[in-house]
Amino acid sequence: MTNQLYLKDTYLFESGAKILECKKDEKDVPYVLLDQTIFYPQGGGQPCDHGKIIGNNFEYAVSNVRQIEEKIRHYVELSQDSFQNPPGNCAVKCVVDKDRRLLNARYHTAGHLLGNVVEELHPALKAQKCHAFPGEAHIEFLGIEMPGEQLLSEKLRNAIAKNLQTKIFEMNRREFESTWYKLPYEIPENKKFRLVQIGNYPPIPCGGTHVTSLKEISKITLSKIKSKNGILKISFGVT
Ligand SMILES: [Zn+2]
Repeated sequence: MTNQLYLKDTYLFESGAKILECKKDEKDVPYVLLDQTIFYPQGGGQPCDHGKIIGNNFEYAVSNVRQIEEKIRHYVELSQDSFQNPPGNCAVKCVVDKDRRLLNARYHTAGHLLGNVVEELHPALKAQKCHAFPGEAHIEFLGIEMPGEQLLSEKLRNAIAKNLQTKIFEMNRREFESTWYKLPYEIPENKKFRLVQIGNYPPIPCGGTHVTSLKEISKITLSKIKSKNGILKISFGVT
């Protein structure tokens, strides 16, 4: 398993790594496997990081990152038509696109906050999924209640003004469920039970990247609140 440095520090934009393998996938698209990575692979409603993998005599632009089973594939765009094959354990420098990482972390954290605030105001509504891609971000709740836009916006503004902090920690699942709430879904046994918590809101299992303080989000705008067939959908943006 690649050492996932992005889980430990959202603000680590550069790091060293070693190339373990350069391969091509079933569609002939080249990718690189590293021993450790600062690149977030797309998943959990959050886009992947972009950036560069820089070696002694080559530089790969990373345009897509995916986790396939235990391996994190860094898909690379080639400036030359040949895919150089660096020797195993070749040392490289990795650089992620800082602006993209931070924008994604702001959106993703905003999604968590919106989920927390809606569930606090309307305990009958349960967040089901969050799609935090900039420009198309929305969160869906199971339930028929309809929150008022004004009160919701005010609560979000207040939480950001208080600059609530996010905390990342790990906890045994049983201990978590006896302290907080029963999870409505299963988590594979081999997955780390990593939790993110904003202020004193209930923590949520998550493997994404988050900003550490809510002021970094700046402002959350609610663009649409719609309820249909027992699903409430709230579209949002971060500015
Ligand atoms: Zn998260």
